[in-house]
Amino acid sequence: MSQLQDNINKANGYLERFEADGVLNHINGEARPAADGETFDSISPVDLRPIAKVAHGKAVDVDAAAKAAQAAFAEWAAMPGAERKKLLHAIADAIVARAEEIAFVESMDTGQALRFMSKAALRGAENFRFFADRAPGARDGQSLYTKDQINITNRVPIGPVGVITPWNTPFMLSTWKIAPALAAGCTVVHKPAEFSPLTARLLVEIAEDAGLPKGVWNLVNGLGEDAGKALTEHPAIKAVGFVGEGRTGSMIMSQAAATLKRFHFELGGKNPVVVFADVDLERAAGAAVFMIYSLNGERCTSSSRLLVEASIYDEFTAMVAERAARIKVGHPLDPETVVGPLIHPVHEKKVLSYMDIAREEGARIAVGGGKPEGFEEGCYVAPTLFTGANNAMRIAQEEIFGPVLTAIPFKDEAEALSIANDVEYGLTGYLWTRDLARALRFSDAMQAGMIWVNSENTRHLPTPFGGMKASGIGRDGGDWSFDFYMETRNIAFATADHHIPKLAG
Ligand code: NAD
Repeated sequence: MSQLQDNINKANGYLERFEADGVLNHINGEARPAADGETFDSISPVDLRPIAKVAHGKAVDVDAAAKAAQAAFAEWAAMPGAERKKLLHAIADAIVARAEEIAFVESMDTGQALRFMSKAALRGAENFRFFADRAPGARDGQSLYTKDQINITNRVPIGPVGVITPWNTPFMLSTWKIAPALAAGCTVVHKPAEFSPLTARLLVEIAEDAGLPKGVWNLVNGLGEDAGKALTEHPAIKAVGFVGEGRTGSMIMSQAAATLKRFHFELGGKNPVVVFADVDLERAAGAAVFMIYSLNGERCTSSSRLLVEASIYDEFTAMVAERAARIKVGHPLDPETVVGPLIHPVHEKKVLSYMDIAREEGARIAVGGGKPEGFEEGCYVAPTLFTGANNAMRIAQEEIFGPVLTAIPFKDEAEALSIANDVEYGLTGYLWTRDLARALRFSDAMQAGMIWVNSENTRHLPTPFGGMKASGIGRDGGDWSFDFYMETRNIAFATADHHIPKLAG
């Protein structure tokens, strides 16, 4: 039997339970259908086969979940950090033990290639370990002295929080948001994306099997406009960590206004990779190709605009084109596959529409440009490179969120910087140059929350993660996650009988 067939059989085994029982909500330690019994189908982008009926949660389900999170909060917040640390490590162990199942289910639910999803499952475990180790110190603060006064700062968990996640790498992203919330002492209601609900169900089950008390982590599936909206409006929910599109972020901002919630937004990007002629072109081409075509290009931090110094533009784009043309598109469970099907026919249609837009705008399609040959079924899109583009084109300004790269030439550093910044987004930037002064100058002026110089995106978990401009509000990662999920307080102690102003007598 081929490795692919073997993997498909394994995946079918892991999916059987979802076919039989559907994807249930999880409220107060109990797997439950939606209160009104309604479901919606989750389809696999590989062949559009429905793989599960998903609980279609609404406001009433969110209310039950938020109340469960509220009831569990006091005890969870009071648990010593060292105990929370042990529990979160136990969850990480349990993720590792079920990493294959998570990776296979995620690949079939999202279309992401197994070679990346097996790492995403392990990265999810690492997220738990990272925040587990920090749980004992989460409440710590500073002592700030002044004459006749000592100020002591400390942090307390903000309360039950809502976590709303998108469909790209949903497992990894959910752990990135939920692990710090739990480490901080918050309880959680999670609303995963309707296009990719399966691994969120596995995750909450894993956590409770590892010993997480009931009610600490609740899951409500549903659509954004009902379950998502209800979560952002619920008075028991004190903060919302949201990852998704900018226009959804705006909606959440207004929905959450009446209950004065804190929010953290990680939104879209149209991230530049800027390549100067003085670099090792092989390395830069390899990194540019990795950052746009890995994870199907469905990656907020992808380098979707390639800005190349004019003197090497033809040579460099030819190198990228040659690599892009060789990328293996295929079934996500094929170990050789790099690019699998996109998440859903709706998204596939959106990505494919940019092929016509590119033609109409006068760009050249150097590679790809449509569905790959032999993949008429399923949401497959060929790795694509647009050349001869300028920054005013829609293909240079709009987030396509697929394996599609737009290459633009620049004549000098000033023009490169102006193109890099001339976009509504500001999530990541990638810069390739050997000139140290230029690297310092350019990276300082680039409008992006995260910049990598002479590197692809390699995350170091203690560093801040987040975007500028339309790419987000707030930061997480490291201690920044605790700042979001906790309230910082100051307590001032008088250390002497200082003068108290008398208003009477
Ligand atoms: P989306 O905004 O459509 O949906 C994200 C989540 O929000 C889903 O769970 C959805 O059900 C929910 N939602 C929708 N309407 C809502 C509402 N009115 N109230 C509350 N919740 C609502 O995003 P998507 O299409 O699932 O994901 C792709 C987007 O996510 C891209 O723009 C991508 O760049 C972005 N993203 C950003 C980051 C980052 O870190 N900056 C990471 C991953 C993805």
